[in-house]
Amino acid sequence: MDFLHYQKGHLFANKIAISELAKQYGTPLYVYSADYITKQYLEYARALVNRKYLVCYAVKANSNLAILSLLAKLGAGFDIVSQGELERVLKAGANPNKIVFSGVAKSVVEIERALKVGIKCFNVESEAELYRINEVAKQIGKIATISLRINPDVDAKTHPYISTGLRENKFGISYKLALDVYRQAVSLTNIKIVGIDCHIGSQLTELSPFLDAADRILTLVAKLKSENIHIEHIDFGGGLGVCYADEQPPMASSLMKELNKKLVNYPDIELLCEPGRSIVANAGLLITKVEYTKHQDGNHFAIIDAGMNDLIRPALYQAWMNVLPEKESQNTDEKYSYNVVGPICESSDVLAYQRQLSVKQDDLLVICSAGAYGFSMASNYNSHPRPAEVMLLNDMQHQVIRQRESLEDLWRGEIVL
Ligand SMILES: *Cc1c(COP(=O)(O)O)cnc(C)c1O
Repeated sequence: MDFLHYQKGHLFANKIAISELAKQYGTPLYVYSADYITKQYLEYARALVNRKYLVCYAVKANSNLAILSLLAKLGAGFDIVSQGELERVLKAGANPNKIVFSGVAKSVVEIERALKVGIKCFNVESEAELYRINEVAKQIGKIATISLRINPDVDAKTHPYISTGLRENKFGISYKLALDVYRQAVSLTNIKIVGIDCHIGSQLTELSPFLDAADRILTLVAKLKSENIHIEHIDFGGGLGVCYADEQPPMASSLMKELNKKLVNYPDIELLCEPGRSIVANAGLLITKVEYTKHQDGNHFAIIDAGMNDLIRPALYQAWMNVLPEKESQNTDEKYSYNVVGPICESSDVLAYQRQLSVKQDDLLVICSAGAYGFSMASNYNSHPRPAEVMLLNDMQHQVIRQRESLEDLWRGEIVL
Protein backbone atom coordinates (compact mmCIF):
# COMPACT_ATOMS: atom_id res chain seq x y z
CA MET A 1 0.00 0.00 0.00
CA ASP A 2 2.38 2.59 -1.32
CA PHE A 3 0.07 5.50 -0.50
CA LEU A 4 0.24 4.80 3.25
CA HIS A 5 3.20 6.14 5.20
CA TYR A 6 4.23 7.62 8.54
CA GLN A 7 5.08 11.26 8.78
CA LYS A 8 6.31 12.75 12.05
CA GLY A 9 4.99 9.74 13.92
CA HIS A 10 1.50 9.64 12.42
CA LEU A 11 -0.03 7.61 9.62
CA PHE A 12 -1.01 9.35 6.37
CA ALA A 13 -2.78 8.20 3.22
CA ASN A 14 -1.32 10.30 0.43
CA LYS A 15 -1.00 13.70 2.15
CA ILE A 16 -4.05 13.20 4.30
CA ALA A 17 -3.76 12.35 8.00
CA ILE A 18 -5.64 9.20 8.96
CA SER A 19 -6.69 10.98 12.16
CA GLU A 20 -8.29 13.76 10.07
CA LEU A 21 -10.31 11.24 8.06
CA ALA A 22 -11.46 9.55 11.28
CA LYS A 23 -12.40 12.90 12.80
CA GLN A 24 -14.30 14.11 9.76
CA TYR A 25 -16.15 10.92 8.86
CA GLY A 26 -16.15 8.82 12.03
CA THR A 27 -15.10 5.19 12.45
CA PRO A 28 -15.17 2.44 11.35
CA LEU A 29 -14.40 3.93 7.94
CA TYR A 30 -13.46 2.43 4.60
CA VAL A 31 -11.04 4.53 2.55
CA TYR A 32 -9.98 3.84 -1.05
CA SER A 33 -7.40 5.35 -3.36
CA ALA A 34 -8.71 6.23 -6.81
CA ASP A 35 -5.16 6.47 -8.15
CA TYR A 36 -4.32 2.99 -6.96
CA ILE A 37 -7.44 1.49 -8.56
CA THR A 38 -6.62 3.25 -11.82
CA LYS A 39 -3.04 2.05 -11.73
CA GLN A 40 -4.05 -1.58 -11.10
CA TYR A 41 -6.65 -1.52 -13.85
CA LEU A 42 -4.16 -0.09 -16.34
CA GLU A 43 -1.67 -2.78 -15.40
CA TYR A 44 -4.12 -5.21 -17.00
CA ALA A 45 -5.47 -2.94 -19.69
CA ARG A 46 -2.11 -1.85 -21.09
CA ALA A 47 -0.43 -5.26 -21.02
CA LEU A 48 -1.20 -6.38 -24.56
CA VAL A 49 -0.73 -5.09 -28.07
CA ASN A 50 -2.04 -6.76 -31.21
CA ARG A 51 -4.73 -8.62 -29.35
CA LYS A 52 -8.38 -7.83 -28.91
CA TYR A 53 -9.12 -8.04 -25.20
CA LEU A 54 -11.41 -6.89 -22.44
CA VAL A 55 -10.76 -6.56 -18.72
CA CYS A 56 -14.04 -7.28 -16.92
CA TYR A 57 -13.78 -6.09 -13.33
CA ALA A 58 -15.42 -8.61 -10.97
CA VAL A 59 -18.00 -6.40 -9.30
CA LYS A 60 -18.43 -8.56 -6.22
CA ALA A 61 -14.98 -7.56 -4.93
CA ASN A 62 -16.20 -4.02 -4.31
CA SER A 63 -19.39 -2.78 -5.90
CA ASN A 64 -19.47 0.87 -4.85
CA LEU A 65 -20.82 3.02 -7.71
CA ALA A 66 -17.86 5.39 -7.48
CA ILE A 67 -15.44 2.53 -8.12
CA LEU A 68 -17.59 1.10 -10.91
CA SER A 69 -17.92 4.47 -12.63
CA LEU A 70 -14.20 5.14 -12.32
CA LEU A 71 -13.50 1.81 -14.02
CA ALA A 72 -16.24 2.29 -16.63
CA LYS A 73 -14.66 5.61 -17.63
CA LEU A 74 -11.32 3.87 -18.04
CA GLY A 75 -13.00 1.48 -20.48
CA ALA A 76 -13.40 -1.56 -18.25
CA GLY A 77 -15.94 -4.27 -18.79
CA PHE A 78 -17.66 -5.94 -15.85
CA ASP A 79 -18.20 -9.45 -14.55
CA ILE A 80 -21.48 -9.61 -12.65
CA VAL A 81 -23.18 -12.36 -10.66
CA SER A 82 -26.67 -10.97 -9.98
CA GLN A 83 -29.27 -8.51 -11.21
CA GLY A 84 -28.25 -6.24 -8.35
CA GLU A 85 -24.75 -6.06 -9.77
CA LEU A 86 -26.16 -5.59 -13.27
CA GLU A 87 -28.23 -2.58 -12.18
CA ARG A 88 -25.23 -1.18 -10.32
CA VAL A 89 -22.94 -1.27 -13.33
CA LEU A 90 -25.62 0.19 -15.60
CA LYS A 91 -26.17 2.96 -13.06
CA ALA A 92 -22.42 3.56 -13.06
CA GLY A 93 -22.46 4.08 -16.81
CA ALA A 94 -21.19 0.73 -18.05
CA ASN A 95 -21.64 -0.29 -21.68
CA PRO A 96 -23.94 -3.37 -21.62
CA ASN A 97 -21.86 -4.72 -24.45
CA LYS A 98 -18.96 -5.11 -22.03
CA ILE A 99 -20.83 -7.05 -19.34
CA VAL A 100 -20.41 -10.79 -18.76
CA PHE A 101 -22.80 -12.56 -16.40
CA SER A 102 -21.39 -15.34 -14.17
CA GLY A 103 -23.01 -17.19 -11.27
CA VAL A 104 -24.55 -20.63 -10.74
CA ALA A 105 -28.14 -19.63 -9.94
CA LYS A 106 -29.32 -17.11 -12.55
CA SER A 107 -33.08 -16.69 -12.21
CA VAL A 108 -35.60 -16.21 -15.02
CA VAL A 109 -35.99 -12.55 -14.06
CA GLU A 110 -32.24 -11.99 -14.08
CA ILE A 111 -31.82 -13.67 -17.45
CA GLU A 112 -34.67 -11.68 -18.97
CA ARG A 113 -33.29 -8.37 -17.76
CA ALA A 114 -29.78 -9.19 -19.00
CA LEU A 115 -31.17 -10.13 -22.43
CA LYS A 116 -33.20 -6.93 -22.63
CA VAL A 117 -30.24 -4.67 -21.87
CA GLY A 118 -28.08 -6.68 -24.28
CA ILE A 119 -25.12 -7.94 -22.28
CA LYS A 120 -22.04 -9.29 -24.02
CA CYS A 121 -22.30 -12.84 -22.74
CA PHE A 122 -23.81 -15.26 -20.26
CA ASN A 123 -21.15 -17.41 -18.61
CA VAL A 124 -23.29 -20.53 -18.36
CA GLU A 125 -22.59 -22.77 -15.37
CA SER A 126 -24.83 -25.78 -16.03
CA GLU A 127 -26.78 -27.63 -18.67
CA ALA A 128 -30.07 -26.68 -17.00
CA GLU A 129 -29.12 -23.01 -17.09
CA LEU A 130 -28.37 -23.27 -20.82
CA TYR A 131 -31.89 -24.57 -21.46
CA ARG A 132 -33.45 -21.92 -19.26
CA ILE A 133 -31.61 -19.13 -21.07
CA ASN A 134 -32.76 -20.54 -24.40
CA GLU A 135 -36.39 -20.62 -23.23
CA VAL A 136 -36.35 -17.08 -21.85
CA ALA A 137 -34.68 -15.78 -25.01
CA LYS A 138 -37.28 -17.51 -27.15
CA GLN A 139 -40.14 -15.97 -25.17
CA ILE A 140 -38.89 -12.43 -25.64
CA GLY A 141 -37.57 -12.89 -29.16
CA LYS A 142 -33.86 -12.55 -28.45
CA ILE A 143 -30.75 -14.52 -29.22
CA ALA A 144 -28.63 -15.13 -26.12
CA THR A 145 -24.86 -15.00 -26.61
CA ILE A 146 -23.23 -17.54 -24.34
CA SER A 147 -19.98 -18.99 -23.12
CA LEU A 148 -19.73 -22.17 -21.10
CA ARG A 149 -17.86 -21.91 -17.84
CA ILE A 150 -15.71 -25.00 -17.84
CA ASN A 151 -14.27 -26.44 -14.70
CA PRO A 152 -10.74 -27.31 -15.83
CA ASP A 153 -10.12 -29.46 -12.73
CA VAL A 154 -6.84 -27.83 -11.77
CA ASP A 155 -5.65 -27.12 -8.26
CA ALA A 156 -5.39 -23.38 -7.70
CA LYS A 157 -3.27 -24.03 -4.58
CA THR A 158 -5.22 -21.51 -2.57
CA HIS A 159 -7.53 -21.63 0.46
CA PRO A 160 -10.26 -24.29 -0.04
CA TYR A 161 -13.04 -21.69 0.42
CA ILE A 162 -11.72 -19.64 -2.50
CA SER A 163 -10.71 -22.55 -4.74
CA THR A 164 -13.28 -23.05 -7.48
CA GLY A 165 -11.63 -25.05 -10.26
CA LEU A 166 -11.62 -28.54 -8.77
CA ARG A 167 -14.00 -31.30 -9.77
CA GLU A 168 -15.80 -31.22 -6.42
CA ASN A 169 -16.66 -27.50 -6.59
CA LYS A 170 -20.19 -26.36 -7.46
CA PHE A 171 -18.95 -23.99 -10.16
CA GLY A 172 -18.94 -24.51 -13.90
CA ILE A 173 -19.50 -27.44 -16.19
CA SER A 174 -17.37 -30.51 -15.73
CA TYR A 175 -14.49 -30.82 -18.15
CA LYS A 176 -15.69 -34.23 -19.25
CA LEU A 177 -19.17 -32.97 -20.16
CA ALA A 178 -18.01 -29.79 -21.87
CA LEU A 179 -18.05 -30.98 -25.48
CA ASP A 180 -21.42 -32.59 -25.08
CA VAL A 181 -22.96 -29.43 -23.63
CA TYR A 182 -21.50 -27.35 -26.46
CA ARG A 183 -23.10 -29.75 -28.96
CA GLN A 184 -26.43 -29.29 -27.22
CA ALA A 185 -25.98 -25.53 -27.31
CA VAL A 186 -25.52 -25.69 -31.08
CA SER A 187 -28.93 -27.30 -31.40
CA LEU A 188 -30.78 -24.63 -29.41
CA THR A 189 -32.65 -22.06 -31.50
CA ASN A 190 -32.08 -18.95 -29.39
CA ILE A 191 -28.52 -19.56 -28.30
CA LYS A 192 -25.40 -18.27 -30.01
CA ILE A 193 -22.09 -19.67 -28.81
CA VAL A 194 -19.45 -16.95 -28.55
CA GLY A 195 -17.03 -18.04 -25.89
CA ILE A 196 -15.53 -20.35 -23.33
CA ASP A 197 -14.51 -19.39 -19.82
CA CYS A 198 -13.08 -20.61 -16.56
CA HIS A 199 -12.29 -19.21 -13.13
CA ILE A 200 -10.23 -21.46 -10.92
CA GLY A 201 -10.04 -19.62 -7.64
CA SER A 202 -8.92 -16.52 -5.85
CA GLN A 203 -5.74 -15.16 -4.29
CA LEU A 204 -3.53 -17.24 -6.59
CA THR A 205 0.09 -16.30 -6.11
CA GLU A 206 1.61 -18.34 -8.93
CA LEU A 207 1.13 -18.32 -12.68
CA SER A 208 1.22 -22.08 -13.14
CA PRO A 209 -2.42 -22.86 -12.24
CA PHE A 210 -3.60 -20.17 -14.68
CA LEU A 211 -1.41 -21.60 -17.41
CA ASP A 212 -2.49 -25.18 -16.67
CA ALA A 213 -6.11 -24.09 -16.91
CA ALA A 214 -5.37 -22.26 -20.16
CA ASP A 215 -3.88 -25.43 -21.67
CA ARG A 216 -6.93 -27.43 -20.69
CA ILE A 217 -9.26 -24.82 -22.16
CA LEU A 218 -7.27 -24.59 -25.39
CA THR A 219 -7.46 -28.35 -25.83
CA LEU A 220 -11.24 -27.95 -25.79
CA VAL A 221 -11.15 -25.00 -28.17
CA ALA A 222 -9.24 -27.13 -30.69
CA LYS A 223 -11.76 -29.96 -30.35
CA LEU A 224 -14.64 -27.54 -30.80
CA LYS A 225 -13.02 -26.11 -33.90
CA SER A 226 -12.77 -29.60 -35.40
CA GLU A 227 -16.53 -29.85 -34.91
CA ASN A 228 -17.09 -26.50 -36.56
CA ILE A 229 -17.94 -24.76 -33.30
CA HIS A 230 -16.06 -21.47 -33.38
CA ILE A 231 -15.11 -19.57 -30.26
CA GLU A 232 -14.80 -15.77 -30.47
CA HIS A 233 -13.47 -15.16 -27.00
CA ILE A 234 -11.73 -16.99 -24.18
CA ASP A 235 -12.30 -15.68 -20.67
CA PHE A 236 -9.68 -16.82 -18.18
CA GLY A 237 -11.55 -15.51 -15.14
CA GLY A 238 -10.03 -13.62 -12.24
CA GLY A 239 -8.13 -14.80 -9.22
CA LEU A 240 -4.75 -13.09 -9.33
CA GLY A 241 -3.55 -12.71 -5.74
CA VAL A 242 -2.27 -9.67 -3.91
CA CYS A 243 0.23 -9.05 -1.15
CA TYR A 244 -1.45 -9.13 2.26
CA ALA A 245 1.61 -10.22 4.25
CA ASP A 246 4.65 -11.32 2.25
CA GLU A 247 3.09 -12.97 -0.80
CA GLN A 248 4.75 -12.10 -4.08
CA PRO A 249 2.11 -12.64 -6.74
CA PRO A 250 3.01 -12.08 -10.39
CA MET A 251 2.19 -8.73 -11.97
CA ALA A 252 -1.10 -8.49 -13.81
CA SER A 253 0.83 -7.60 -16.97
CA SER A 254 2.87 -10.83 -16.72
CA LEU A 255 -0.28 -12.87 -16.33
CA MET A 256 -1.84 -11.21 -19.37
CA LYS A 257 1.31 -11.63 -21.45
CA GLU A 258 1.65 -15.31 -20.55
CA LEU A 259 -1.99 -15.99 -21.35
CA ASN A 260 -1.60 -14.12 -24.61
CA LYS A 261 1.36 -16.35 -25.52
CA LYS A 262 -0.87 -19.38 -25.10
CA LEU A 263 -3.10 -17.95 -27.82
CA VAL A 264 -0.44 -17.64 -30.54
CA ASN A 265 -2.37 -19.92 -32.84
CA TYR A 266 -5.55 -17.91 -32.36
CA PRO A 267 -4.79 -14.33 -33.39
CA ASP A 268 -8.47 -13.47 -33.78
CA ILE A 269 -9.73 -14.73 -30.45
CA GLU A 270 -10.56 -12.00 -27.95
CA LEU A 271 -8.96 -12.48 -24.54
CA LEU A 272 -11.12 -11.71 -21.50
CA CYS A 273 -10.25 -11.71 -17.82
CA GLU A 274 -12.26 -10.99 -14.69
CA PRO A 275 -9.99 -9.55 -12.00
CA GLY A 276 -11.53 -8.35 -8.76
CA ARG A 277 -9.21 -8.53 -5.79
CA SER A 278 -6.06 -7.52 -7.67
CA ILE A 279 -7.69 -4.24 -8.74
CA VAL A 280 -9.07 -3.09 -5.41
CA ALA A 281 -7.66 -5.01 -2.42
CA ASN A 282 -4.61 -2.86 -1.82
CA ALA A 283 -6.49 0.29 -2.76
CA GLY A 284 -8.48 0.11 0.46
CA LEU A 285 -8.12 0.36 4.20
CA LEU A 286 -10.41 0.24 7.17
CA ILE A 287 -9.87 2.83 9.88
CA THR A 288 -11.07 1.72 13.29
CA LYS A 289 -10.93 2.99 16.85
CA VAL A 290 -9.84 1.11 19.95
CA GLU A 291 -12.79 1.17 22.34
CA TYR A 292 -11.04 -0.70 25.14
CA THR A 293 -8.02 -2.75 25.93
CA LYS A 294 -8.43 -5.75 28.17
CA HIS A 295 -5.71 -7.79 29.84
CA GLN A 296 -6.68 -10.98 31.60
CA ASP A 297 -5.47 -14.54 32.11
CA GLY A 298 -2.41 -13.82 30.03
CA ASN A 299 -4.49 -12.62 27.07
CA HIS A 300 -4.37 -9.12 25.63
CA PHE A 301 -7.30 -7.81 23.66
CA ALA A 302 -7.56 -4.64 21.64
CA ILE A 303 -11.33 -4.27 21.32
CA ILE A 304 -12.09 -2.15 18.27
CA ASP A 305 -15.24 -0.63 16.79
CA ALA A 306 -14.99 -2.65 13.55
CA GLY A 307 -16.02 -6.28 13.57
CA MET A 308 -16.56 -9.31 11.38
CA ASN A 309 -19.76 -7.59 10.24
CA ASP A 310 -17.63 -4.88 8.61
CA LEU A 311 -14.76 -7.09 7.43
CA ILE A 312 -15.36 -10.82 7.46
CA ARG A 313 -12.23 -12.06 5.68
CA PRO A 314 -10.26 -13.02 8.81
CA ALA A 315 -13.26 -14.89 10.29
CA LEU A 316 -14.38 -16.51 7.03
CA TYR A 317 -11.07 -17.43 5.39
CA GLN A 318 -8.58 -17.22 8.27
CA ALA A 319 -7.15 -14.34 6.28
CA TRP A 320 -4.18 -12.44 7.68
CA MET A 321 -4.48 -8.69 7.29
CA ASN A 322 -1.90 -6.16 8.32
CA VAL A 323 -2.80 -3.84 11.20
CA LEU A 324 -1.01 -0.51 11.55
CA PRO A 325 -1.31 1.87 14.49
CA GLU A 326 -2.12 5.48 13.61
CA LYS A 327 0.63 6.56 16.01
CA GLU A 328 3.93 5.15 14.84
CA SER A 329 5.23 2.86 17.55
CA GLN A 330 8.57 3.60 19.16
CA ASN A 331 11.08 1.01 20.31
CA THR A 332 10.68 2.23 23.86
CA ASP A 333 6.90 1.71 23.90
CA GLU A 334 5.51 -1.07 26.03
CA LYS A 335 3.96 -3.58 23.66
CA TYR A 336 1.68 -6.55 24.09
CA SER A 337 0.78 -9.33 21.77
CA TYR A 338 -2.81 -8.31 21.07
CA ASN A 339 -5.72 -10.14 19.62
CA VAL A 340 -7.57 -7.41 17.75
CA VAL A 341 -11.24 -8.19 18.27
CA GLY A 342 -14.54 -6.58 17.26
CA PRO A 343 -17.81 -5.84 19.05
CA ILE A 344 -19.76 -8.79 17.64
CA CYS A 345 -21.07 -11.51 19.91
CA GLU A 346 -19.15 -14.34 18.24
CA SER A 347 -15.84 -15.87 19.29
CA SER A 348 -14.80 -15.79 15.64
CA ASP A 349 -14.99 -11.99 15.65
CA VAL A 350 -11.20 -11.58 15.60
CA LEU A 351 -9.69 -9.33 12.93
CA ALA A 352 -6.09 -10.11 13.79
CA TYR A 353 -4.31 -12.52 16.11
CA GLN A 354 -1.13 -11.91 18.07
CA ARG A 355 -0.01 -8.48 16.91
CA GLN A 356 2.73 -6.64 18.73
CA LEU A 357 1.10 -3.30 19.41
CA SER A 358 1.27 -0.47 21.85
CA VAL A 359 -2.27 0.87 21.97
CA LYS A 360 -4.62 2.47 24.39
CA GLN A 361 -8.27 3.39 24.53
CA ASP A 362 -9.40 5.76 21.71
CA ASP A 363 -6.30 5.16 19.58
CA LEU A 364 -6.83 4.50 15.89
CA LEU A 365 -5.78 1.39 14.01
CA VAL A 366 -5.75 0.83 10.26
CA ILE A 367 -6.50 -2.55 8.73
CA CYS A 368 -4.68 -2.71 5.42
CA SER A 369 -5.59 -4.29 2.08
CA ALA A 370 -9.30 -4.07 2.87
CA GLY A 371 -10.52 -2.83 -0.52
CA ALA A 372 -11.66 -6.22 -1.82
CA TYR A 373 -14.29 -8.40 -0.17
CA GLY A 374 -14.48 -5.89 2.66
CA PHE A 375 -17.46 -3.60 2.38
CA SER A 376 -19.08 -5.82 -0.26
CA MET A 377 -19.34 -8.61 2.32
CA ALA A 378 -20.35 -6.34 5.20
CA SER A 379 -23.59 -6.98 7.05
CA ASN A 380 -25.71 -5.44 9.78
CA TYR A 381 -25.23 -8.35 12.17
CA ASN A 382 -25.76 -7.25 15.77
CA SER A 383 -27.55 -4.22 14.27
CA HIS A 384 -24.47 -2.20 13.47
CA PRO A 385 -24.93 0.33 10.66
CA ARG A 386 -22.44 -0.34 7.88
CA PRO A 387 -19.47 2.04 7.69
CA ALA A 388 -19.13 5.05 5.43
CA GLU A 389 -16.85 4.77 2.41
CA VAL A 390 -14.54 7.56 1.33
CA MET A 391 -12.54 7.94 -1.87
CA LEU A 392 -9.18 9.66 -1.96
CA LEU A 393 -9.46 11.57 -5.22
CA ASN A 394 -5.83 12.65 -5.28
CA ASP A 395 -3.08 13.61 -2.81
CA MET A 396 -5.20 16.09 -0.89
CA GLN A 397 -8.88 15.64 -1.74
CA HIS A 398 -11.36 13.10 -0.48
CA GLN A 399 -15.06 12.54 -0.82
CA VAL A 400 -17.74 10.35 0.73
CA ILE A 401 -18.84 7.75 -1.80
CA ARG A 402 -21.29 6.07 0.55
CA GLN A 403 -22.85 7.61 3.60
CA ARG A 404 -22.58 5.80 6.88
CA GLU A 405 -25.84 3.95 7.42
CA SER A 406 -28.21 5.52 9.89
CA LEU A 407 -30.01 3.69 12.66
CA GLU A 408 -33.27 4.10 10.70
CA ASP A 409 -31.63 2.30 7.77
CA LEU A 410 -31.36 -0.74 10.03
CA TRP A 411 -35.11 -1.34 10.14
CA ARG A 412 -36.14 0.09 6.80
CA GLY A 413 -38.95 -2.05 5.38
CA GLU A 414 -39.76 -3.69 8.72
CA ILE A 415 -42.99 -3.25 10.71
CA VAL A 416 -43.92 -3.16 14.35
CA LEU A 417 -46.83 -5.57 14.95
C1 LIG B 1 -14.96 -13.99 -7.73
C2 LIG B 1 -14.85 -14.15 -9.19
C3 LIG B 1 -13.92 -13.40 -9.91
C4 LIG B 1 -12.94 -12.45 -9.25
O1 LIG B 1 -12.00 -13.12 -8.47
P1 LIG B 1 -10.78 -12.31 -7.81
O2 LIG B 1 -10.05 -13.34 -7.04
O3 LIG B 1 -11.38 -11.27 -6.95
O4 LIG B 1 -9.98 -11.73 -8.93
C5 LIG B 1 -13.90 -13.53 -11.28
N1 LIG B 1 -14.76 -14.37 -11.93
C6 LIG B 1 -15.67 -15.11 -11.26
C7 LIG B 1 -16.57 -16.01 -12.02
C8 LIG B 1 -15.74 -15.03 -9.88
O5 LIG B 1 -16.62 -15.78 -9.22
